Amino acid sequence: MQLNAHIPGGPLAQKWDRHRFELKLVNPANKRKFDIIVVGTGLAGGSAAASLAELGYNVKSFCIQDTPRRAHSIAAQGGINAAKNYQNEGDSIWRLFYDTVKGGDFRAREANVYRLAQISNEIIDQCVAQGVPFARDYGGLLANRSFGGAQVSRTFYARGQTGQQLLLGAYSALMRQVTEGRVIMFPRREMLDIVLIDGQARGIIVRNLVTGETERHAADAVVLCTGGYGNVFFLSTNAMASNVTAAYRAHKKGALFANPCFTQIHPTCIPVHGTYQSKLTLMSESLRNDGRVWVPLKPGDTRRPEEIPEEERDYYLENKYPSFGNLVPRDVASRNAKEQCDRDKGVGDTHLAVYLDFKDAIQRDGRDVIEKKYGNLFQMYHKITAENPYETPMMIYPAVHYTMGGLWVDYNLMSTVPGLFVLGEANFSDHGANRLGASALMQGLADGYFVIPYTIGGYLAGTPLKPVTTDHYEFKNADLAITEMTRKLLAVDGSRTVDDFHRELGTIMWDYCGMARDNEGLTKAKGMIRELREEFWRNVTVPGKDMDFNQSLERAGRVADFLEFAELMILDGLDRQESCGGHFNEAYQTDENEALRDDENFCHVSAWEYREAGEEPVMHKEPLVFENVELTQRSYK
Ligand SMILES: Cc1cc2nc3c(=O)[nH]c(=O)nc-3n(C[C@H](O)[C@H](O)[C@H](O)COP(=O)(O)OP(=O)(O)OC[C@H]3O[C@@H](n4cnc5c(N)ncnc54)[C@H](O)[C@@H]3O)c2cc1C
Repeated sequence: MQLNAHIPGGPLAQKWDRHRFELKLVNPANKRKFDIIVVGTGLAGGSAAASLAELGYNVKSFCIQDTPRRAHSIAAQGGINAAKNYQNEGDSIWRLFYDTVKGGDFRAREANVYRLAQISNEIIDQCVAQGVPFARDYGGLLANRSFGGAQVSRTFYARGQTGQQLLLGAYSALMRQVTEGRVIMFPRREMLDIVLIDGQARGIIVRNLVTGETERHAADAVVLCTGGYGNVFFLSTNAMASNVTAAYRAHKKGALFANPCFTQIHPTCIPVHGTYQSKLTLMSESLRNDGRVWVPLKPGDTRRPEEIPEEERDYYLENKYPSFGNLVPRDVASRNAKEQCDRDKGVGDTHLAVYLDFKDAIQRDGRDVIEKKYGNLFQMYHKITAENPYETPMMIYPAVHYTMGGLWVDYNLMSTVPGLFVLGEANFSDHGANRLGASALMQGLADGYFVIPYTIGGYLAGTPLKPVTTDHYEFKNADLAITEMTRKLLAVDGSRTVDDFHRELGTIMWDYCGMARDNEGLTKAKGMIRELREEFWRNVTVPGKDMDFNQSLERAGRVADFLEFAELMILDGLDRQESCGGHFNEAYQTDENEALRDDENFCHVSAWEYREAGEEPVMHKEPLVFENVELTQRSYK
């Protein structure tokens, strides 16, 4: 298979304009003749469904939750990037583009990232027009703060609730279209398969999560906006319902999966407390604007933080990276935290934590100022840990947070299945091997508000599409296969719960495919995952019935997919014999323990093709060509 990213020709800065001009258009009066399915109502799906309906298409919108407002995007805290340069700090579209390519350790497509940087400014205007209450400075302009991997302040925010406010904006736009009759909303539905007719994506099969019935929905194109797969690690900062099912089942139907091993481990999360936990909590990266990260200078020091004098503290990020200090990118900050803990300098009961200290910031700016910026985050920390971060440093440790890998898409955001588009965290997108903070919201909204409205038109206008109905045998076959899988899951009747399997899978992935990896560990993990998967189908217990509200059954299906997908992550990790961004193979590091890329052999996207059960997937390479930035060893010193 030859992968064609369909990157338009011409100078970088003109590619998107040129492409929009060259794309075929659907006449306004003809748009109502097309039906589009949008799966997912987070920032990517909500914005896409609203924008497509506003254009005049008939949209069906699906989500797992009881309302679009509860999509995982609502959890996003810190902010959204844009190159407005309101602060006069020298920011520009070019700088945002460059920071993003470098932050991703040169494993993203230049053309996509440049477009993202261009669109970033339009997103802010759109959201302000919707009434999103971004923070403002004393003169009334929108305020900005800094995020990792950038030396300018370009992050727009609404306290620590930016995702919530942006999602309310997209939700309002979506509900306007529901009222207009252009969007039909299907909450409490889980997409369990995609239906291909003549090789084109023409519909989906969903399970009604309240009644248990399967439903068939036909359309002219399908847009997947189903989020990331971080929950393969069981413990992550993702919402409990985040999963890989929609993307993985599309993969099984022919959509290539790109860079599955690229996982982001976020440095500032509340450390794990015990084995009873099912969720980890993020402390936003924005906190590193004012909080200082440190550990005791002496290994094995068990004194309380206030008992450790200044000269016996190691502000290791500030010391090692004087230019970026506490705001180095996430992969760098996470690895350094791990390194300190490996040297027995970790703090707290488990010794798997470092301090994030606001004492100096409170002394400098006053408690009121810090409270205005981060009040809700401090309150959350206090509630979870029973420690008051205004008085004692927070304790933080890295946790799984985001997945850069996802379904492969071309410049039009179309997967290798014609008519199947993939947006937001679900695609492999623009972040290379490491995403910079505040860039996921930017990408999700760029995809939904500004890219798909053009590119889907190009597809619909330029593709012959036969009329299809849900009586087509491909719909019947897919529906039957889902019913059969449900029957199989309920019939096992074993003795281990779904969560028990999921937790064990998560431990394997964290231990062998987490912050640091090596070939021996990855190979071992592959065998362990296979054994666990085999046991799952022999010994899982799924109580309840199919034709009913049954959350054990929902989770069983998702964990069954995670058990297959995890092996693909391992294969991808084993194949990529270099370190880059979030993929840190210990065999490949610089003298200063930074990731050591191999541009000669691995400057490509690894896109995996599914083969029938039992056969190894096949990897296809999309070479990455850098014409505008020079590939260098990343340095944040
Ligand atoms: C705690 C936290 C804080 C974050 N803070 C920031 C931040 O400050 N800035 C930033 O840029 N990024 C942040 N991120 C990352 C960012 O929130 C996500 O990457 C982004 O919101 C993903 O949006 P999305 O629309 O792609 O998917 P999601 O918001 O994950 O939405 C997925 C949607 O798909 C639906 N869905 C999934 N599977 C199915 C299925 N099989 N059938 C039907 N529906 C399905 C879900 O119901 C949901 O509606 C944060 C992430 C976390 C975890």
